[in-house]
Amino acid sequence: MIERPEWKSLTQIVGSEHVLADPYDLDRYSGDALTPSRAFGAEAAFERLADLVVRPGSTAEVSQVLAWAQDAGTPVIPYGGGTGVMGGVLPVRGGVILDLRRLNRILEINPLDMTATVEAAVVLEDLEDALFERGLMPGHDPYSVPIATVAGTISTNGVGYRAGAHGPMGDQVVAMEVVLPDGRIITTRSVPQYSSGPNLNHLFIGSEGVFGVITRATIKVFRLPESQVFAAVDFESFDQGFRASAELHALGIRPTLLDLTEDEDRIRLYLLFEGFREGVTAQEKRARQVCSEFGGRDLGPEPTLDYWADRHESAENYKRTALGKSRKERWNRRRARGFDYLHLGLPVSQVLEYRRQAEKILSSYRVRVVEYAIWSRPELFSMMVVPEEDGDDDFRKNFGNAVERVLTLAQDMGGVMEYCHGVGIKLNHLLAREMGVGHDVIRQWKQTLDPANILNPGKLGM
Ligand SMILES: Cc1cc2nc3c(=O)[nH]c(=O)nc-3n(C[C@H](O)[C@H](O)[C@H](O)COP(=O)(O)OP(=O)(O)OC[C@H]3O[C@@H](n4cnc5c(N)ncnc54)[C@H](O)[C@@H]3O)c2cc1C
Repeated sequence: MIERPEWKSLTQIVGSEHVLADPYDLDRYSGDALTPSRAFGAEAAFERLADLVVRPGSTAEVSQVLAWAQDAGTPVIPYGGGTGVMGGVLPVRGGVILDLRRLNRILEINPLDMTATVEAAVVLEDLEDALFERGLMPGHDPYSVPIATVAGTISTNGVGYRAGAHGPMGDQVVAMEVVLPDGRIITTRSVPQYSSGPNLNHLFIGSEGVFGVITRATIKVFRLPESQVFAAVDFESFDQGFRASAELHALGIRPTLLDLTEDEDRIRLYLLFEGFREGVTAQEKRARQVCSEFGGRDLGPEPTLDYWADRHESAENYKRTALGKSRKERWNRRRARGFDYLHLGLPVSQVLEYRRQAEKILSSYRVRVVEYAIWSRPELFSMMVVPEEDGDDDFRKNFGNAVERVLTLAQDMGGVMEYCHGVGIKLNHLLAREMGVGHDVIRQWKQTLDPANILNPGKLGM
């Protein structure tokens, strides 16, 4: 049994300066980058604010806070960078926001093991800077590098620009230290593969903090590439660009960056090859040949060089104008006119058919797709959608219905409604539909680990 500091106050555990109850703090912590205008039907989740914000400074303090919360029956919501776009940190039943940002030390960089061990809330950019000095880099490079944390990105299993070669954030995880809902601490072992029982890292990857609070992680790191080759190719149709991307993947070519984007101006494939010189040369040569076979027009490196240089701009902007500000300020910066950005995962064989059916549905709701994309691998398909008309509540409801129809279409075609941002409050109502009996299983795990449902309640459909 764990030793509990019986009803020790939170102030005693973390120090009074790390317990915040000011209405301004409660407001700004009670949400992330999701705005009510994109929450379609889940707007009520924004009504409840946190009762307290608690800022632990060590794993032991996290453990004591959770043990206290079990006794008190108080919800606890893990909070990393607060940059999630699905409302994963919303305190839908009140309680304590557990701000982990004091856990921000880089504990070890090991160039032989090719790993870095860090505390939960190290910001990706800080890790990147520290690795760079040692000739290394992380494998996860989302737009949100300047603002998102290591444990937050593990908890949403995010995808970034280098996922073509290195996979999503979950693939980078080697080991973790996690505080369970009752305060016990578990650690997994720092080896990439074992067959002595299931790999418990997967209980926490993409689980949005409902099964435990990650306090440390050991993640893979990579050598700075010996060679980098940028390429850009235009296609006449999305289908051609998609088929070229699928062929690259089937051949086993793994560009670090693979981004096929169709917008109002063009259909362009952005590619970056990285690694040891001979490997890069061979991959890029064959990739150019494949693209040309599918009708691609080689544009040289410049478009991708520009794209690469600007890739974190939206997050720099978010950091300047929104991060840490009141919810009203964050919500007001969004354009009043609705838009949504959907990230569907589908079998390769279904992607183009999905696009056709989704387009038909969206146009029947007078919703326009302003961007289509494939990111990192052919199964990962996204659409940026906007309603044709500005509008009142009825228009927004119509827009929300259109979005829901295409999310469930992806499920019905054997895919998933979201590939990198998690479920949060926005997609909560659709998770059981997607997982089927699998959802019963995760509910049973939750019941076993957290019978009083104190850790991030109201998330993952629980
Ligand atoms: C401008 C911008 C650009 C973005 N670009 C991308 C992108 O390219 N790719 C991408 O995948 N996402 C992107 N996102 C979304 C966001 O950055 C990611 O979802 C990110 O993974 C969230 O990290 P965070 O540290 O901010 O987590 P938070 O928002 O704080 O939390 C996310 C979830 O994880 C849980 N959590 C946080 N810390 C812990 C912990 N220590 N233990 C257990 N659970 C925890 C929270 O409870 C919540 O459910 C972007 C967001 C913005 C605002």
